[in-house]
Amino acid sequence: MSTCLITGGAGFLGSHLCERLLELGNRVICVDNLETGSLRNIDQIRTPEFEFEMLDITSHFEVAGPVDFVYHLASPASPIDYARLPLHTLKVGAYGTHNALGLAKVKRARFLLASTSEVYGDPQIHPQPESYWGNVNPIGPRGVYDEAKRYAEALTMAYFRQQGVDTAIVRIFNTYGARMRPHDGRAVPTFIRQALTDKPLTVFGDGSQTRSFCYVDDLIRGLIALAESGLHDPVNIGNPDELTLLEMAQLIVELTGARSEVVFEALPIDDPQIRQPDISRARDLLGWAPKVTLRDGLRETIDSFSAGLDRTAL
Ligand code: NAD
Repeated sequence: MSTCLITGGAGFLGSHLCERLLELGNRVICVDNLETGSLRNIDQIRTPEFEFEMLDITSHFEVAGPVDFVYHLASPASPIDYARLPLHTLKVGAYGTHNALGLAKVKRARFLLASTSEVYGDPQIHPQPESYWGNVNPIGPRGVYDEAKRYAEALTMAYFRQQGVDTAIVRIFNTYGARMRPHDGRAVPTFIRQALTDKPLTVFGDGSQTRSFCYVDDLIRGLIALAESGLHDPVNIGNPDELTLLEMAQLIVELTGARSEVVFEALPIDDPQIRQPDISRARDLLGWAPKVTLRDGLRETIDSFSAGLDRTAL
């Protein structure tokens, strides 16, 4: 049995990762300060193999006993969160990543950094392979997140090269599923919340910007495969099935049977125009590819939103 420590384990992705690692027979230590996560995400986990530590990882932290894997996911992840918490986002990318890497070093654990497709910025090549260095505006409102993640990647490689820590970097592309917060501002939960309440779906710009959406179960499988591999270079994990945001809004209207119309709002600053992962590296080196179709993943997500949530919260 391995012991896995997950920073940000009470968040959207972290809580799914906790559950999956426990199902696979591991011990899990979930570390979170609940800044954007919630105890409700991990409430259903009832096993002595699970431990929750309420900690802010921007300060030095320790845990007792052996740790075999550190999955470092803690960070605000939605544009409205990092706009609200710009300094915290930079601190968690810098100090938080230092502290998580330091812990992995002391424990001789394998370390996995949850990075992001946002390191590619508004990309000039399509789809984006890991060899692309990106086109990021460091001083725009999104810079706090994009540059924190780019710094965290540089730091991870420095701990690998100079400190001998066994590290991996995953560049996560847009992922959706149950437990996203209905008001977190990301496209899928926003559209589902609006559709389930028959409100207009608010699409930014003319909706022609593209995204590629990965279902959470596929993403978690990729994260674990990468952590359990011996790879050190970044690996894209995402679903290459690309569509425009207008198409996504129309699909959610269809799947929910909503009577909503689509309305258009101003495009946020530095919003990427295109986004699609090149997943050749994940396919070739991990044998990983997404399995869940967009329609199936959206149906699951819509069901969880309509069943699990207090409708007044929508
Ligand atoms: P989330 O906001 O649901 O989860 C982040 C978690 O980190 C929360 O539980 C939050 O409370 C915790 N956290 C934040 N600061 C902390 C601190 N100082 N100390 C301890 N805990 C702290 O977001 P998510 O969507 O689950 O994203 C998880 C990770 O995956 C993030 O690093 C994000 O950048 C990355 N990522 C996610 C996506 C996506 O589509 N969901 C895409 C790319 C990258």
